[in-house]
Amino acid sequence: MAGDGSGINHITVLSGGVGGARFLQGLWHGITTGQVPGVAEDARVTVIANNGDDWWVHGVKVCPDLDTVMYTLGNGIDHERGWGRREETWHAKEELANYGVEPTWFGLGDRDLATHLVRTQMLDAGYPLSQVTEALCRRWLAPTYADRLRLLPMTDDRVETHLAITDADSPSGRRVVHFQEYWVKLRAEAEVEALLFVGLDDSSPAPGVIDAITDTDLVIVPPSNPIVSVGPILGVPRVREALVATRAPVVGLSPIVGGRHLRGMAEQLLKASGVEVSAAAVGLHYGARSDGGVLDGWLVDEVDAHDVRRVAEAGLACRAVPLLMTDLDATAAMAAAAVELVGPARPAA
Ligand code: GDP
Ligand code: CA
Repeated sequence: MAGDGSGINHITVLSGGVGGARFLQGLWHGITTGQVPGVAEDARVTVIANNGDDWWVHGVKVCPDLDTVMYTLGNGIDHERGWGRREETWHAKEELANYGVEPTWFGLGDRDLATHLVRTQMLDAGYPLSQVTEALCRRWLAPTYADRLRLLPMTDDRVETHLAITDADSPSGRRVVHFQEYWVKLRAEAEVEALLFVGLDDSSPAPGVIDAITDTDLVIVPPSNPIVSVGPILGVPRVREALVATRAPVVGLSPIVGGRHLRGMAEQLLKASGVEVSAAAVGLHYGARSDGGVLDGWLVDEVDAHDVRRVAEAGLACRAVPLLMTDLDATAAMAAAAVELVGPARPAA
């Protein structure tokens, strides 16, 4: 039971795609092998995943971050790419291109397409995304995790991240593109003028999201993209308030190591959002709960040890530890350090 004083029995994680999924793999490994002191070996994990990367393409609804978490934890991921199915083939994509149908640049694999077809049919039949996700997870997660690991979309509503980019060929000098076009087609090389989270302000948390923040023993913000992965989750109305109010401690791990992201486009999007690209600045961007932010603690990598003081002065518990998710044990050690930094939930009043 949450907060009964007997340690950590439920952990909630706010996740993007690859960074969040790798962390979750290590967290689960650590929990089940007893490598995370203070956490019960049969603890439950609830994952709240970002929907900002979602989009409709070739008539199907694609949810990249949900699927990356689902395939990674379900051992169906292509490890080299970090996204999509392993043993993938690309016949449908090639045939669509042969018809001259755009976009031709989006990686829609044949095996992956089956997931999107099931999802789209269920959405068409009237099921909300959260129930569709639960159905997909019956294949990918239930056999290994039973009901101990739950994957929730942040919202059942349509939310999409768009970016205004500089475009000399447009009459206005700029163009608005979906996040997928910016990341996959433009390889995050275009100059970003603004980020637009379409639909976010009017969205509602999916069923279970607020409860998973309120009724838990620990909330972890993994090394996910702070702007386009964790940012949208925090932007769903009532989520930020729930984090501020929860009895559970909230701890984050820096996705920026030595002033760089490890993969992805965090550097570009932090700059576009006016946030300095450093481990300290990302922690301060989330902010201390004692000062209107969402975190109690922030882990930075050892190479960023010089940042600890600046973060601590802002009211956050902070430590420098190795933060490279090189293998399951290294990632489990990161989870253990996160738990140790903030301790268990306050007992219920
Ligand atoms: P995406 O949705 O696939 O972009 O994945 P996430 O948003 O979950 O995570 C992307 C972030 O993970 C990037 O900003 C990376 O810098 C970060 N990341 C990837 N690998 C590592 C790692 O080994 N250690 C740390 N600290 N961050 C990492
Ligand atoms: Ca993503």
